[in-house]
Amino acid sequence: MSRKSGIVSHKLYMEPVPVSHFEISHADPHCAARRGVLTTAHGPVQTPAFMPVGTAGAVKGITPDQLKATGAQIVLANTYHLLLRPGVEVVESLGGLHRLMAWDQPILTDSGGYQVFSLSALTRIDEEGVEFASHIDGARVHLNAEIATNLQVRLGADIIMCFDECTPYPVEKARLEKAVARTIEWAKRCKTAYQRSFKFEVSGVEQGETGAFEAGGGSLRTAGASGPQPPACFPLLFGIIQGGVDPKLRRWCAEQIVALGFDGYALGGLSVGEGHDEMIRTVRHTAPLLPADRPRYLMGVGTPADILAAVRAGIDMFDCVLPTRNGRNAFAFTENGPLRLRNNAHVDSTEPVEAGCECYGCRHFTRGAIRHFFNCGEMLGPILLSIHNLTFYQRLMSNIRTHLERGDFAAWAAREFEKHARNDKQQ
Ligand SMILES: [Zn+2]
Repeated sequence: MSRKSGIVSHKLYMEPVPVSHFEISHADPHCAARRGVLTTAHGPVQTPAFMPVGTAGAVKGITPDQLKATGAQIVLANTYHLLLRPGVEVVESLGGLHRLMAWDQPILTDSGGYQVFSLSALTRIDEEGVEFASHIDGARVHLNAEIATNLQVRLGADIIMCFDECTPYPVEKARLEKAVARTIEWAKRCKTAYQRSFKFEVSGVEQGETGAFEAGGGSLRTAGASGPQPPACFPLLFGIIQGGVDPKLRRWCAEQIVALGFDGYALGGLSVGEGHDEMIRTVRHTAPLLPADRPRYLMGVGTPADILAAVRAGIDMFDCVLPTRNGRNAFAFTENGPLRLRNNAHVDSTEPVEAGCECYGCRHFTRGAIRHFFNCGEMLGPILLSIHNLTFYQRLMSNIRTHLERGDFAAWAAREFEKHARNDKQQ
């Protein structure tokens, strides 16, 4: 059944036992929210989940141990930044991205598309790909579907994203249509590149021949316990739906991307200036077009109110720089609205940033001390508020999951949304 003269039998791999990488345990009867577990090569992610952003391989100001203490299960790293510095060869020579980051839990890498279109000076864009000038030194860099996919595979991420074209807001219809068409075409090429990139790592089997890995990505599959094992796990490959706030384009893009088949689906091109209402309208329209049994990821979102509304619309994953960026700017999220820790009002306050918060900052420091650190330019100020804000976000996600399990999510989320929407307006 297994080996003949050292040759691995193809049959073993052709009849794998499929194990779904995404299991939904609770679906709310009053809205589209769901509670699930996403399984990756570096462990499970409880959903709905929030991913802190580790742009260049580090979540700014936070050690991995501190990050774990906030409740983070998975982090996001930016392919664009890692490609420019230190370069994927250096990451490989340092033992891969998990080793570089000293992070043994799941990592999702974006494809670089968003940064190419938002940070760099584009020098060429066509069907083939893009050429841009690095925002660091102006060096010309070429990126396309194949390169972006291979870079992410080489980085060793657990979830990798298709290369897409992210448009600004507002944008002319013709440009949006073109971007959607390219996103679909590039998704096809990303999937092919993904499958090819593992061709030589699966001993004795070529994916394209057997169809054993035809589903595109890394659903966990195991051969017979006694037989040779395929690689422990492949990264999951997520497709991205673009289309701005245009319902027809979103539908077209979703249909085409879903037809290609991916391990998960992301909504890109939102939170770029369209505002909460337009964004949530688009999410409500698009999420039901995606397979119910695959995770849905809303990229670059958002405020607590955005997250609550998107969870109600059926989103499972989020990432955003707000908790860390705001933390570095002396802005703390609290249940009672934002606090600006530079304000004189806090000069002699002996209160913690948020009463009842279990984070390191709230357990050990007063508002007055943190204000002092910010006023003196002490690094500890930004560090403590980054920890607090990340803990605040993870507490929100944990509460969302708990209420989904209890079956009282809809009523709770309605109250929480009103509160956070009021708080967000004070930002
Ligand atoms: Zn705290």
